[in-house]
Amino acid sequence: MPSLLHKMGTLKTRHGGKKGNEMPKELKRAKNILCGGFAEGDGEMRVVNPATGELLGVAPSEFSSERWSPENIGEIARAAQEFWHWEVEEQEKEAVFAAMAQNFKAHRGPLARTMVLEGGKLGRWADAEVQEVLDTITHYHGEVSRYHTNDGFARCQLPDKNAFSLLMPYGNILTVKPWNFPAAVPMWAICGALAGGNSVLVKPAEQTPFTMQYVAELVLKSFTDALPPAKVGRLAGLVQVVNGTGPGTGKPLLEKYAYDKVTFTGSDAVGRIIARTAGERLKPCHLELGGHAAMVVLDDFDIDLAVREALNAVFGDSGQRCVSTRVVYVQESAYKEFLSKFVAGAKTRRVGNPMDPATDMGPLISLDQREIVNKMVLDTASQLGRKPLVGGYALNYASRSFAKNDGLNVDDAVFEGGGAYFAPTIFTEVPYGTTAMDQEIFGPVVVVNPLAGRTREEAFWNAVALVNKSQYGLSNALLTNDRRISSRAPGRIHTGIFYIGRGTTGAELNKYFGGVKSSGWGREGRGLGDWTQIQQVYDDFHGKARMAQAGADDTVRALLAASRSVFEK
Ligand code: NAD
Ligand code: MN
Repeated sequence: MPSLLHKMGTLKTRHGGKKGNEMPKELKRAKNILCGGFAEGDGEMRVVNPATGELLGVAPSEFSSERWSPENIGEIARAAQEFWHWEVEEQEKEAVFAAMAQNFKAHRGPLARTMVLEGGKLGRWADAEVQEVLDTITHYHGEVSRYHTNDGFARCQLPDKNAFSLLMPYGNILTVKPWNFPAAVPMWAICGALAGGNSVLVKPAEQTPFTMQYVAELVLKSFTDALPPAKVGRLAGLVQVVNGTGPGTGKPLLEKYAYDKVTFTGSDAVGRIIARTAGERLKPCHLELGGHAAMVVLDDFDIDLAVREALNAVFGDSGQRCVSTRVVYVQESAYKEFLSKFVAGAKTRRVGNPMDPATDMGPLISLDQREIVNKMVLDTASQLGRKPLVGGYALNYASRSFAKNDGLNVDDAVFEGGGAYFAPTIFTEVPYGTTAMDQEIFGPVVVVNPLAGRTREEAFWNAVALVNKSQYGLSNALLTNDRRISSRAPGRIHTGIFYIGRGTTGAELNKYFGGVKSSGWGREGRGLGDWTQIQQVYDDFHGKARMAQAGADDTVRALLAASRSVFEK
């Protein structure tokens, strides 16, 4: 493992390097991480650079080996978990988190670069994601000590009796993750699970196994750095990674692995499968699903600032964030100005290879995902009977003239390569009942709608009604400086996250994250809440048989006597 890390450490990003697009040889086949070490998995799936179509390597696609089964890795994890929770002291746990921060800092550039290569992320967003990982580590480092300061004694109803509540780990956590935040989203679960005293088994997305492997190695290295070898040995299996497709690996784990809770981030279609299977096994589950974020702009707000926020929230990560803005409602009086500036901004955004520092928007995650986006855009256009105002097509050799006519700013190489690029796409005046309004299109596609209302107040209430019609409720935003409206707004829109004065992206790592309605159940973070269960302890030192609520025997006899006389009257 150290030699692999060393090799990876020589890769450079914009933080100081030069190298081309090739991955080091050792990365050609991603490995599972089982029982504290690397393990070969079964089957094979291709890992492709979405910006170029180049093959980066392969990863195991199934989980059905003779040596490792969902059953036996559950036992290994449980032994490690019990040791972690009961035998590793608070200070030692904190030292592991401190070492994690060190290791991720030291590998910041190469880790970001791995995300750029296999995830198609821009360098600056990949770098921001490593920062998000660091913030997550810091947050949960702090939470470790909260385990020990959580609660005080409570006085009881009865004398000679104390009560206190205790945080307990769930035990084994299974977590199934997507590709769009391939380091940060798994790390929310890894850090949360560990701080809560749990083991964690990650089923990463099939598109980004190398990022996952890198992350897991840095985590494992932190244990080795911070703890004596004897303890590290007992923790083999505390953090495990099993690669593969949903049906090949996700399904058998979900059905057979001995988890005590499962957490999931991904589409609502798969979320339903997770909830159904976990429900059948009566295991708690926690879901972070899709969204359809709305940004509401009232006419007093600085239009240029609103446009900048919208451009970031719509096109950042090519619209592949669960919190990406899908619809902007602009108060009628400001609509024209907003739309023309927003369209102009979209056209000047440079579409190109994410390795190029001049690029504003890279590719989608894969050609398959581009096909899905393309179909949803075509469906919307046919439902409307008109094309989008801008974009609406894949960027390839066939669409050069469309892009030219639209005045898009696309790097020439995009038209010639095999990358999964899609044009920035803007629909206007789109009602519910269409694909773009009813569903989440996971790409750089947005609807801009005028918002009726003679006054700001009226426009605001119209927006509340419109936004609440969505089946989703993850992240929504209100842009106004009118405090009579903004201060009254929280809670009115049914959403897990609500921004005032800015776009729908940019959640902070020590705050609650998650959605309502079809956007999910529960919150992944913050703190120990999602990673522990409560045990209520009563410590009774009275020495006689008794029970709360049930009164003393003589009181009960007197009561019964009194009530009999009432009825006998
Ligand atoms: P997906 O739901 O298809 O896949 C997510 C994970 O589930 C992957 O690891 C996949 O292999 C696994 N999976 C698929 N089928 C499975 C099965 N039958 N059993 C067990 N596991 C299975 O998601 P995707 O298409 O890769 O990602 C895009 C979607 O994810 C979008 O809809 C987006 O909204 C959502 N997403 C949500 C959030 C959030 O925080 N709310 C974050 C990122 C992505
Ligand atoms: Mn999928």
